[in-house]
Amino acid sequence: MASDGGERAISWEWVAPGAAAHHRLGEVVDELKAGDPLVAVSVVVPANPAGVWARRAMGARRAGVVGVAFGTLAELAAELAADRLDAEQSVPLADQELLALVRGELERTDGAFHSVRHHASTQRVVADAIAAFRRVPDLTAELDGPDLAGRSLRSLARQVLAIGERISSRAGFHDDVDELVIAAEEVTGGRAPALGSVVVFLPEWLGAHERALLVALAGAGVEVRVLAALTGDRRADGVIMSLAEKLGVVPPSPPGDTPAVDAEVIEAADPETEVRHAVAWLVDRHRNGVPWDELALGYTATVPYARLVEHILDEAGVPWNGPSTTTLASTSVGRLVAAMLRLIDGDLARRDVIAALGCLAPPRREWPLSSWDRLSRRAGVVGGIEQWRERLDGEVVAALADADIDGIPEDDRGRHRARAERARALRYLVDQLAMMVEPLRDPGSWSAAVDTVRGWLSELEPSLLRSPDEQKAVAALGTALLRLAGLDALEPEPRTASIREALSAELDRRVGRHGRIGHGLLAGPLPALAGAAPRAVALVGLSEGLAPRRLRPGAVLGNAECAGREADLGLDTELLQLRRFRCVVGAASDAVLLLAPAVDPRSARRLTPSRWLSDDRTGTGVDRTDRTIVPSLWADAARRTPLTRAELTHAALARRSADPRALSAWLAADHLESAREILAGRRRGLSVWSGLVGPHDALDTTGKVHSITAFEQYAKCPTKYLYGHVLGVRREDEPEAVEGLDPRSRGELVHLILQRWLEERIDRDGELHLEILEQVMNAEFDAWEETRAVGSVEVWHRDRQDVAVRLSGLVELEEGSGAEWMPHAAEMEFGENDSLRVETPGGAIRFKGRIDRVDRRADGALRVVDYKVRGSGKNRSSVDVVGVRRGEALQLPLYGRAAAASLGGAMVRAEYWESASGQARAFGVDLGDVDDAFTAAVGDIAEAIGAGVFPLQPGEETPWPRSSFANCRYCEFDSVCPSQRAEHAEAAAVDPAAEPVTRRFAAAVGPVRES
Ligand code: SF4
Repeated sequence: MASDGGERAISWEWVAPGAAAHHRLGEVVDELKAGDPLVAVSVVVPANPAGVWARRAMGARRAGVVGVAFGTLAELAAELAADRLDAEQSVPLADQELLALVRGELERTDGAFHSVRHHASTQRVVADAIAAFRRVPDLTAELDGPDLAGRSLRSLARQVLAIGERISSRAGFHDDVDELVIAAEEVTGGRAPALGSVVVFLPEWLGAHERALLVALAGAGVEVRVLAALTGDRRADGVIMSLAEKLGVVPPSPPGDTPAVDAEVIEAADPETEVRHAVAWLVDRHRNGVPWDELALGYTATVPYARLVEHILDEAGVPWNGPSTTTLASTSVGRLVAAMLRLIDGDLARRDVIAALGCLAPPRREWPLSSWDRLSRRAGVVGGIEQWRERLDGEVVAALADADIDGIPEDDRGRHRARAERARALRYLVDQLAMMVEPLRDPGSWSAAVDTVRGWLSELEPSLLRSPDEQKAVAALGTALLRLAGLDALEPEPRTASIREALSAELDRRVGRHGRIGHGLLAGPLPALAGAAPRAVALVGLSEGLAPRRLRPGAVLGNAECAGREADLGLDTELLQLRRFRCVVGAASDAVLLLAPAVDPRSARRLTPSRWLSDDRTGTGVDRTDRTIVPSLWADAARRTPLTRAELTHAALARRSADPRALSAWLAADHLESAREILAGRRRGLSVWSGLVGPHDALDTTGKVHSITAFEQYAKCPTKYLYGHVLGVRREDEPEAVEGLDPRSRGELVHLILQRWLEERIDRDGELHLEILEQVMNAEFDAWEETRAVGSVEVWHRDRQDVAVRLSGLVELEEGSGAEWMPHAAEMEFGENDSLRVETPGGAIRFKGRIDRVDRRADGALRVVDYKVRGSGKNRSSVDVVGVRRGEALQLPLYGRAAAASLGGAMVRAEYWESASGQARAFGVDLGDVDDAFTAAVGDIAEAIGAGVFPLQPGEETPWPRSSFANCRYCEFDSVCPSQRAEHAEAAAVDPAAEPVTRRFAAAVGPVRES
């Protein structure tokens, strides 16, 4: 090691991030070389991309980079410690090996972890805590001190430390901390190889062992110079000041004010709009002469940005480099292994079997995946090899019997035989899959498990593995399997769950990197941009929660224990994040674009722009009023640089739409007549894209018979009516494992019991007769159990009790509702042959339905009752004249009319009797009070349906049980509707085209409420 033998002080210098820092680095290297190009200098960078930027900047100088090595401090330590570690035959301790050692230690250790030692999360927590503790050498002493809060936490931490010490004392393995410690010892002992002077370039933070290595280097006479970035933000720079202090350096006073960054800030509709806008902005810069490798795109969160960035950059044909989102699990080999593991976990669950078959070979005529899927659904297969065999055999018998029916056409006979063949083939394949996964149920050793997995891979159809990416994945999985097979030396008797966890963890690892570092635009999370000096940078995902992210200490050390040593423990504190943001923004020499999403499309939750955008101290200097708002993806696409052919067409349309004649000619020439309608439709407000369908034969409400709940659904959300009752969209049921009565089945069972009980009572004298209810209930339970899937014995027992409780709630309601009412009819149908008509200005609207119960009083008055055991979604205050006029409470008035029309009666009362979640209640309306409002609401809804007006109506935002909207929480179309449904609804509400919808609400809050 080149040194003058005497101890030196570490020197410290402030630099501005970006090109200025690179310029100063060149000057410092020249000073250190003092005119001799062969003098060695090591430049320590925060990350490898930073090394490439620095090397490139230095290479552009006349002096070049002869004798200058670039690398991270971990790489430098590995180099300094290599000789000794080689001599000790020590190999790096990888994650799976650490977990195997942790499992072994937990098995041998009593204490807090013992009862949960087999949980993968326990093993993960302990492994992570060991890794964190090893970074803080003084923690052991402090655990005995008085300051550490919480006795139980202290005891946990001690147990982890003890496990960690036993693991690190095992010969043959070393981790990165060992490398740093050994490197420092070798340097101090004068045994390290020569490395010349060291420049620590733009450090983000240095842990205790890293600091110790630098101190050791300086102590051994190596010239160590730190070039630290100054952002101008006092809080952010305070972090790096404390690093200087920990290194024993007194940094010079920072130079004067750092200029505020001139950044453009955009609040975009959602993450996709953000990324598309950012890429278009960067493409513009490239077209204006900036090379791709002087541009950068950063994001604050891997999900959802990494995939979006990868997809949109590739779609736009931008050459780029950065972390890849590809994991082994997303390749053919990985998908197969994951699918086979699921077969074991789910005991050959139907959908897992179909997925595994889909992974083995692509669907085609001889591999009819979708036919097998339909066939297994129809056969009612849920899972388990016995059920597969029994039900597919039954399918074969049934299909052959169908084929043997006398007199059927030959074509049909052929179809039935083909069905039998498909069922036979599927049965054979399921048997094969069962045999393939069997050895992994209890493999006994890591190598046996690995052999089984290799056997699966040999069954893959070769055509799936031809692409270079798939070949890379095969190689990566092969390496991972080799490592796992080697775990037998550390864990000779692994648990099956540990093997499956380890395999799953390997599948989740990212494979490789996109592009070569330094080639093309740099894209990645903010830490990947550290040390870069682009001319322009765009950052996406600047919303609260992501920028900054909340600090999450581990389970073993709490906030109090971490206080003051967060950075040393490897935690990304808010100040470290702020500093990184400021450095990345300050490094761009020409332009900065900062983007924040308005909505999280996964939860449809509105997001708040990051405090970093509005905090003056960040120096971004952008007032809220100066921000650009981009309300939607297509609004954005119309005014920025198009990235794809579709966007190009869209932009051209938007440009020409000002001149209708030129537009028409252009469209006709390109056969794009319908595109104009699309453009016009994408206007803000109610359009064909947001529910303005317009009149159509299928929407003629007078020509068919309706259910009143469909009208109520329209009143709640017209789009829901459009999807469910006009387009016939519905979720496909799957015969998967029954876990108990679903809400619909529970309601059906309660209704069945009450119907039988009421019929019995009506046949006798109408009295309550609770003993008959008991008999009816038991008989119906038994019949249900015989004919329906009821799940496990315990679950069925619980469900029976739950039904009995709900029934007793309804009986209590009846007891309290007056003895003068006697049951008169149960499950009374109406409108089947001669539909019930509601005369409206637009014509007669016909309804049919079924009333749960009709009671009569001695004076002839009628009462209709509708049982609700799932919660009606209504309440006393919504079932009144206003609720009826709004169209949201139409069921009771219609039932009242139907009963009166069929039975005659002086007065009709209509009530819900609700017995849900342990509480029973009754509420309803007198028909006379709401009849006019009912007719008006039915008329308005029929007119709006006929006019083809179906706006989205999600209702109020609801934070619980998840962030959603009142009408969407349990709606089966929640995953179909746009994430910006609230904005669509707001815009539609003020659009004159929505008048048929809004009229009801205006009428309900106006004259009716006053009356
Ligand atoms: S998810 Fe919401 S907005 Fe969409 S149809 Fe359902 S209720 Fe309407």
